[in-house]
Amino acid sequence: MSSISRPIALITGASRGIGAQTAIKFARHGYLVVINYHRNQQAAEQVKQQIEAEGDHAITYQADVSQPQQVAQLFAAIDELNGDLRVLVNNVGILKQQSRLVDMDLARFNQVMHTNVNSCFLCSVAAVKRMSSQQGGQGGVIVNVSSMAACTGSPNEYVDYAASKGAMDSLTRGLALEVANEGIRVNAVRPGLIYTDIHASGGEDGRVDRLSSRIPMQRGGKAEEVANAIYFLACDEASFVTGSFVDVSGGL
Ligand code: NAP
Repeated sequence: MSSISRPIALITGASRGIGAQTAIKFARHGYLVVINYHRNQQAAEQVKQQIEAEGDHAITYQADVSQPQQVAQLFAAIDELNGDLRVLVNNVGILKQQSRLVDMDLARFNQVMHTNVNSCFLCSVAAVKRMSSQQGGQGGVIVNVSSMAACTGSPNEYVDYAASKGAMDSLTRGLALEVANEGIRVNAVRPGLIYTDIHASGGEDGRVDRLSSRIPMQRGGKAEEVANAIYFLACDEASFVTGSFVDVSGGL
């Protein structure tokens, strides 16, 4: 890797899907990308190889970002890199088998809330401490990957997941207002139905195709289309945008 100092972008959950496309997008725009992953090292390495094949720069880092100690280690590793952390994309999100809320147990509910909300909280706190102009930082941008589920509630599928995304939306708005005067912008994208592997976790691989006729644009979205919106919110073209939400949902 070149020794030129580069702005750093941390993308959580970037071994596949929206996170992987976001990593590739930021790398193409000159960032040193930190590809965080949880279990699938091979997939994360493939994303890194794709980035390097284009002459861009990335590292992979394994961490369960819902765990405080692992988040601390991840950010300590970022502190050792040659560059400033300028972008955090809180992309990690999980969902479970489709079910009515009344049929869910507390263990499942806790796991979904814990992974989706705690990861956003822990990484945001660590990033703000490094980015804040009041703490000697250069400023920065946080983009949270929420979901249209925060608005629809996802009845009969995953109300737990929808509730976790609602919490992320509140966190986005509240944090944005807290750090608006510290050189940090905080926004979120709310994807609709996007072709990725996440739907298989809910037990329905073909969910996007089944529901695509309900989407005003009559098609599911691509991970790259979400990555484009994330990049817009992070770049200087969005310099006066904070505490805002961009729906990437084909009108859903
Ligand atoms: P995905 O294909 O299921 O990928 C999830 C990624 O998150 C993987 O890279 C996975 O890593 C990583 N991950 C999971 N738990 C983690 C943890 N505790 N720590 C670190 N990494 C973890 O998901 P996606 O569809 O691209 O979704 C990305 C985001 O978009 C999620 O927040 C999701 O809720 C949101 N979203 C997606 C859609 C959609 O239709 N796809 C719609 C609305 C919102 P490993 O594979 O290494 O375990």
